[in-house]
Amino acid sequence: MNLWVLGSGSSGNSILVETDRSRILVDAGFAPRVLKRRLAIAGVAPESIEAVVVTHEHTDHMKGVAAAARKWGWTIVSTAGTRMMCPDWAGLRAILTPRKSSVTIGDFFLETVPVSHDASEPIAVIVTSILDGSRAGIVYDLGHVPEDVSRALDKLDVLVIEANHDEGMLRAGPYPPSLQRRIAGNFGHLSNRVAAQAVGQSVHSGLNNIVLAHLSEKCNTPRTALATVGEVLRKCRFRGRLTASSQDNVVGPFCAGGSAAGVSAPVQLALGI
Ligand SMILES: [Zn+2]
Ligand SMILES: [Zn+2]
Repeated sequence: MNLWVLGSGSSGNSILVETDRSRILVDAGFAPRVLKRRLAIAGVAPESIEAVVVTHEHTDHMKGVAAAARKWGWTIVSTAGTRMMCPDWAGLRAILTPRKSSVTIGDFFLETVPVSHDASEPIAVIVTSILDGSRAGIVYDLGHVPEDVSRALDKLDVLVIEANHDEGMLRAGPYPPSLQRRIAGNFGHLSNRVAAQAVGQSVHSGLNNIVLAHLSEKCNTPRTALATVGEVLRKCRFRGRLTASSQDNVVGPFCAGGSAAGVSAPVQLALGI
């Protein structure tokens, strides 16, 4: 199973998960023409995607969902709360999932986990390949990491986790105090420091790739995020690759299962630019 981050940040998020014969997206926060261009970089035709799992209704996660699903025949998977906020999905094929549930699509067993964020029924997604049992976790747009989310990040091969802001840069940055409080609050976004704690707890011998996602362009830099999380990973003796995703560039493939590239080396840092 391979994972690609087609782009991640406040202007759009989309992640491709694929096996040799099955493909899904988690979120489609880009216009269809952008999705098509970025999927081509991963060598994937949009028509070959079976479903798009939508984590929540914020524009940066669902901007392209309705148009792309209509154009390419994708099934939409979401919670009822997310569906309710997206009237333009009317008439499209949809699977509604409770916030804590599971559903099988193609080669993928999908588990959904509730997260706290200022949206209607937002979720994190754990994807397990039914071919080889390899696991990828995708968790972003959440204010904190409670015990049940932390437990869901256990035994992953690939972890995509939000590292939205550096706490000092947020305080010194351009946002008014009310927005700073929203971002740093329990229903906002994870800081590099909190992401590093969560990542540290999820390290085990099978984890070969960690990808930092949803980096703020105003209150973070890829180097800052990599340095903060990398420091914790070195202490945990993580042996794999740590990559910062990018708003504008496709990064991947990150291989879950099979040959776990990088596991024999100490932590390697990579900028997704
Ligand atoms: Zn977002
Ligand atoms: Zn959001």
